[in-house]
Amino acid sequence: MEFSPSLLLLFQRSARIVVLTGAGISAESGIPTFREAQTGLWETYNPEELATPQAFQRNPGLVWDWYAHRREIIAKAQPNPAHRALTDLESLFPEFNLITQNIDNLHRRAGSSGVIELHGNIFRSRCIEEGTRFIEWEEADVKPPRCPDCGGSLRPDVVWFTEALPQEALYTAFNHAENATVFLSVGTSALVQPAASLPLVAKSSGAHLIEVNPDTTPISREADYILRGRAGEILPVLVERIRLMHSS
Ligand code: NAD
Repeated sequence: MEFSPSLLLLFQRSARIVVLTGAGISAESGIPTFREAQTGLWETYNPEELATPQAFQRNPGLVWDWYAHRREIIAKAQPNPAHRALTDLESLFPEFNLITQNIDNLHRRAGSSGVIELHGNIFRSRCIEEGTRFIEWEEADVKPPRCPDCGGSLRPDVVWFTEALPQEALYTAFNHAENATVFLSVGTSALVQPAASLPLVAKSSGAHLIEVNPDTTPISREADYILRGRAGEILPVLVERIRLMHSS
């Protein structure tokens, strides 16, 4: 796999690297995207109708069970070479920030630090009354389980359709995008706002924009470099080339 010398040179000269990832980076870990067909018990449900606050109000037990099912699939998945390559990239740059739209925790499990999670994390739950977050809770016969502090219902700590993103994560992400010198967009369809604006904000603030995706997306036409293909194949080679350049 060959990379243009000017692309590699960017990483030699650049001080601030920002990466945005989407569901595509976890595809090679076997985690289905929302849009992929559901199987078994869940095939008659449309995920876009389950991942909403209205669905939770209507039938909290059903939504809880669907997330429990997704959690089981995701818990069995392992970080793939793309996740690990980003951990290696982080070790090469003092100013490196990783922003993800994924809720699967795989970046942290691969060893990335300070991951900015725009859409929450499926391995956390949150009390709907007081907002307290939990990484462990007791499952009970009645779904969803109750908050041990106040007895309110627990919900998955993820952002549902129509909900606002966590303010602090969003603010930090836009701040990093504005200050990036290189912005790498990996495995995102760039259709879900406001995350989809981050590459464009970075570009208009002067960053060089690189896209890693097997398919064309709305940000492809803005990208300075397009690396067409699977993240798990491209990123390890790219990061190794950057590492060699750093050490020479
Ligand atoms: P998306 O499903 O809209 O788009 C995935 C993108 O990844 C596509 O452009 C596709 O071409 C690309 N892709 C597929 N395989 C790839 C590979 N091997 N390497 C690189 N790219 C690849 O994903 P999105 O843009 O993240 O938006 C979907 C929303 O659904 C997000 O809000 C996210 O929170 C949520 N979601 C998360 C997960 C997860 O945590 N793993 C899974 C499903 C959905």
